[in-house]
Amino acid sequence: MIDTHCHLTFKLLLDDLDAVLTRAHDAGVDRMITVATTPDDARQAAALAGQHDNVYATVGVHPHYAGQWRGRGQDVAAAMRELADDPKVVALGEMGLDRHYDDPPIDDQRRVFALQLETAKALTKPIIIHNREATDEVLAMIRDAGLPGARFVFHCFTGTQQELDAILELGAMVSFTGIVTFSNARSLARSAAGVPLDRLMIETDSPYLTPEPHRKVRPNQPCYVPCVASFLAQQRGMDESEFIAAVDRNAERFFGLG
Ligand SMILES: [Zn+2]
Repeated sequence: MIDTHCHLTFKLLLDDLDAVLTRAHDAGVDRMITVATTPDDARQAAALAGQHDNVYATVGVHPHYAGQWRGRGQDVAAAMRELADDPKVVALGEMGLDRHYDDPPIDDQRRVFALQLETAKALTKPIIIHNREATDEVLAMIRDAGLPGARFVFHCFTGTQQELDAILELGAMVSFTGIVTFSNARSLARSAAGVPLDRLMIETDSPYLTPEPHRKVRPNQPCYVPCVASFLAQQRGMDESEFIAAVDRNAERFFGLG
């Protein structure tokens, strides 16, 4: 199965990469997308994807890094255009807004997100959205950019049913991490169970957010994405292998994986 969102370039996973890839393989996780957070990170991710057949990469600026890249819009756009030509770079992002922290300032985040949406207009790859406590603003910026909703996935969804409805209304995909398995996330689990099957994807977002029943294990890694699958299959009353086939099909279609 596919882990649609992990960070293999982060030190916690990179330092142990061979073992991380072996454990993923042994758990039946045969493909993974390592998602970039800065242009430099994207180059490293693309290099990893070049070395491993079953690893794919992305290019974009995570809102946490918007402060550093605010004044370097040309570099961001150039990296996006350059790497989007690489067949192993399957998406733009992760990009978006994060209001959980005040730093970097929201104006910087908005500027860097808008620049990436603008750059994405001339490119064709799908777009991974990082949204935390800013759903209305993110949706408004996507609409203002005039990009089709079906090009977007809202990764690590943790919002309310109302926010979920608005995202589905836009036409976007929704992706869930191990958070959905946590005992304090019951309403999120119920929301996830109601997402149309063809709009749903799963991920680890590793090295963070290890799913139950391994929540205490650090770091999280792609080998744990089957835990998210089995939890959600159970929530939906579905056969686990059927569920995995469905979300993998979605990932293959959305990211154009061969
Ligand atoms: Zn991420």
